Amino acid sequence: MNLTRRSALGGLIGAGAFAIGGCGPQGDRGRKDADVIIIGAGLAGLHAALMLEEAGLEVMVLEASRRIGGRLKTLDHLPGAPEAGGQQVGATYARFRARAAEAGLEFTGFPPSRFGEVMSVNGALIEARQWAGSVQNALPEAWRAIPPGRLFMQLAMRANPLEDVYAWRDPGSAAHDIAAAQWLVSQGANDEALRLMDTSLNGRDLASYSMLNIWRSLAIYEQERPLGGAQQVAGGAQRVPETMAARLAREVRLGHGVRAIQADDSGAAVRLEDGRELRADFIISTLPFAVLRHLSVDAPLDPATREAIADMAYTPIVQLHLEAQTPWWEEDGLAPEMWTDSPLNRIFAQRSPDGDPTGMLLAWLDGRGALAADDMDDAALETLARETLAAIRPASQGRVRLAHVQRWTASNPLAGGAYMHWRPGEARRWAEARFTPAGRLHLAGEHTGDLHTGMEAAMESGERAAIAILDAAGA
Ligand SMILES: Cc1cc2nc3c(=O)[nH]c(=O)nc-3n(C[C@H](O)[C@H](O)[C@H](O)COP(=O)(O)OP(=O)(O)OC[C@H]3O[C@@H](n4cnc5c(N)ncnc54)[C@H](O)[C@@H]3O)c2cc1C
Repeated sequence: MNLTRRSALGGLIGAGAFAIGGCGPQGDRGRKDADVIIIGAGLAGLHAALMLEEAGLEVMVLEASRRIGGRLKTLDHLPGAPEAGGQQVGATYARFRARAAEAGLEFTGFPPSRFGEVMSVNGALIEARQWAGSVQNALPEAWRAIPPGRLFMQLAMRANPLEDVYAWRDPGSAAHDIAAAQWLVSQGANDEALRLMDTSLNGRDLASYSMLNIWRSLAIYEQERPLGGAQQVAGGAQRVPETMAARLAREVRLGHGVRAIQADDSGAAVRLEDGRELRADFIISTLPFAVLRHLSVDAPLDPATREAIADMAYTPIVQLHLEAQTPWWEEDGLAPEMWTDSPLNRIFAQRSPDGDPTGMLLAWLDGRGALAADDMDDAALETLARETLAAIRPASQGRVRLAHVQRWTASNPLAGGAYMHWRPGEARRWAEARFTPAGRLHLAGEHTGDLHTGMEAAMESGERAAIAILDAAGA
């Protein structure tokens, strides 16, 4: 083992000193830039980096963007600093909470929201209490009282076959790994029910979304329920990865995009966008597979791992952060929050701790709505937002400005989407392969979590990769 514990390491290896795909990582063994190179300064990468440093290894974190945090992104430049990425911190997020506590960060509850009181279906504005009797309601008789925004969740909750948070990994759960559209039809869904449930799906569409996704999430909620509701980080979610990065011995290398990875059983190397090459005893890639699939990876990847990297599905989300120039909702007396089947999908209002709207609204577009929006430029999206909102809520006419567009889609080269989801049949094929190491290359990131999803999955995955490296290094 060629690990240097806290040793002084040489500078960057110049371009051409090491040919990725040529002589291989074992060439020129004396020269390395760190014991472990970690690709990505999101939660997974930073948690792994801290753990490895705490164990005495030299770590170098490479980050393509100029910002720490990845899919935790607090829009500090906007009023009330809304979140554009992950926000809800579950009660069981032990690793995330511990890292936040180390930095003295605190958590707060969410102010009361009025989401769900008002909806818009087929252009008609409907209060939730009127929904069951509305002429716009073409749901099957047994479901008429359920608001469309809660329909999928409620139906799935009543029938969850998973007994715990790990059951989705049991071979026995294969029978439940079926397309949501197929399952819903078996429960009596008509075309209108499918249309409404597809509108705000946390996936791409009901036909390609495995029921295991929602049942797995619901099993996690069930585990969290007795422990308390979700919280948020006071001061912004991005503060957690920022303070983690600040504790590293070596500064995160911002603006260091990786474009090629090479690894075998004796070493590993990366090539940066600018052509420089860096090597280490081990590499951890925390890149979403929707990003990694665009890099050149020369490593003994398991065929199923290769397949997962190439094909894993990512939920597309587009967020339109809107600034209301006056509190126009006071004129019609309804809550600004809305579930809609319009191109704006769901509209959330940011609220102060005492529950008053701050004036920042968020149109959250998932699935097909997000894909359609992603084809539009920001100016066209502003027009769409203003016109759609004015049609539903005439009081908003001329009083909304688009402050920020956040694209968590394939067009975002650093993320490729918001987060992974399973299509039917994939969990069985890729559950293990997602993180099977390839020589000295270890795979981490949200998409490789087992017991959690989201932020804590990222932390869990970073921990797994760090432990595997410490084991392999005999450290
Ligand atoms: C809109 C949205 C809402 C969410 N809501 C929640 C929530 O409420 N609760 C929850 O728990 N989770 C939520 N999540 C998920 C959570 O934010 C993520 O699971 C988590 O932040 C992912 O961390 P990661 O380290 O795996 O990946 P990332 O944070 O994506 O880190 C990967 C890093 O790699 C960098 N990178 C990309 N390409 C390269 C390259 N070629 N070279 C070098 N670096 C590169 C990226 O810039 C990024 O910083 C949400 C996510 C989104 C998008």
